[in-house]
Amino acid sequence: MKDIHLLNPTHLLYHAVGKPRVKGIKKLGSNKRCSLCGLPTTDAVGWEVGKKFSNLDLFAEKENIDFLCPACHYALSHIKELHKAYILRYTEGLKILQFDDQPSKKIGIGQKRIVSRYYLRDFLSNPPVDDPWIMMLQTKMNPQHSIMKAKVNFGYADTLWVCNGGINYAIPKKGLVELFNALEKVKKSDSLYPYLFNDKRPWKEHKEIKLWEEVEPIIVKHRCKHYLSFIYDRIIPPKNYMLKDTDN
Ligand SMILES: [Zn+2]
Repeated sequence: MKDIHLLNPTHLLYHAVGKPRVKGIKKLGSNKRCSLCGLPTTDAVGWEVGKKFSNLDLFAEKENIDFLCPACHYALSHIKELHKAYILRYTEGLKILQFDDQPSKKIGIGQKRIVSRYYLRDFLSNPPVDDPWIMMLQTKMNPQHSIMKAKVNFGYADTLWVCNGGINYAIPKKGLVELFNALEKVKKSDSLYPYLFNDKRPWKEHKEIKLWEEVEPIIVKHRCKHYLSFIYDRIIPPKNYMLKDTDN
């Protein structure tokens, strides 16, 4: 990867979808900084801050916003279509994820990829290193400016960024697979969930004490970390899905 623009989320999106033509591009006489991403550009698309627009904190510039670069203009114009779970990669494009137990979704941009509920865990267990990527999940009902806030992963890093709407979770790569396995066991269990976030251990006659003792040394390394409940809730497949899977 030579173009550092690709480390910016709107630029990664714009490249990944094949740089579609954006209407109204004007050539600037010299490089100017895009008001949103702050990167220099000679291509400008006129844009005004609408009356209802309340997310100025997204912008590199806060005043005199009158144009955007094509990448930022494209991203801002597709907020609704991007209100989905997706993997965005430079080489593979924008893949809107549909889990195999979900009803068919309509998509506006990118391609649809039907995946198992284990896909997120598997992806993060072996993430790409030579290709910039974003993993986006969503929780809010209404579309957010989540692409602008997303953090792009690239290269060998100790931390993986996973985006949930406008919130980015920094997840340590070290010990992650072991954490996934431990959390899967807890999620499949009948009664260990409360002990994930609690210093109190199950009592010694607890019916799942053996299982707890197996996962506890792993869980304690991640206890009280901001990402623990996020991984448990959103990356580890739903309990019923995993149980159905073991039955087959
Ligand atoms: Zn821009």
